[in-house]
Amino acid sequence: MRELEGRIAVVTGGNRGIGRAISEELADAGARVAVVARSAERAEAAAKELPGEGHRGYECDVSSAEAVQALFTAIESDLGGVDILVNNAGITRDNLLLRLKDDDWDGVLDTNLKGAFLTIRAATRSMMRRRSGRIINITSVVGLTGNKGQVNYAAAKAGMIGLTKSVAKELASRGILCNAVAPGFIDTEMTESLSPAVREELISRVALGRLGEAREVATVVRFLAGPGAGYITGQVIVVDGGMVV
Ligand code: NAP
Repeated sequence: MRELEGRIAVVTGGNRGIGRAISEELADAGARVAVVARSAERAEAAAKELPGEGHRGYECDVSSAEAVQALFTAIESDLGGVDILVNNAGITRDNLLLRLKDDDWDGVLDTNLKGAFLTIRAATRSMMRRRSGRIINITSVVGLTGNKGQVNYAAAKAGMIGLTKSVAKELASRGILCNAVAPGFIDTEMTESLSPAVREELISRVALGRLGEAREVATVVRFLAGPGAGYITGQVIVVDGGMVV
């Protein structure tokens, strides 16, 4: 089924991990995807590998207001108005509270939370004119529960949930729906650096007894971007194998 035929989608951090799986799902559904990464080379290489035609790669650091504005100007000129925005770009800089440096706080908040605000502000001008749009923010279960050693990441991800709900309320009358997806423990580069002991401990908390796959997050994003989700806004869909129940 190509339910997103003719749509333009932007996926930040779309070149690897969960973002890459999201780019693949949206492309498989017929959307033309703008893959955004911090390097043009990586973004373009990932866009080339997507199924179908017309995908493009773009270099942008989402924490920079100027770069984000330039990104959306370029995408709208190359591909047209954005129909689907997926805020997936994210980083971790974990440390215990007392050891956390100002830069670790700022870096995580600037990329994970301010980056989402900047892209939403840039994308919604054209969505509002066309009275249609879907925004999907990739938060985390950590934004719901908190986590030792991740005060910066948890604060950013909780902030994304407030951002999602507020955008949903503010833009519903313009036909723009905004939801969040909160993955649990997904097998990507972000989680592969964890020690075997930490992985085992985390898996022991997952009801399904295994890590999630990026594809299992991406299929939920595809649903939220599509016609079946037309009456859903301001929600947080948890995809965590029963970790937080
Ligand atoms: P990942 O493999 O580390 O990939 C992160 C992606 O974000 C990369 O494509 C990276 O691009 C991009 N990125 C980072 N900083 C950026 C910036 N300033 N501007 C533009 N792009 C930037 O991470 P992942 O595991 O797939 O995670 C994807 C999202 O899911 C993140 O928001 C993460 O917080 C969230 N999440 C992940 C898990 C998990 O268990 N993996 C769980 C819950 C939530 P480059 O290639 O250019 O670096």
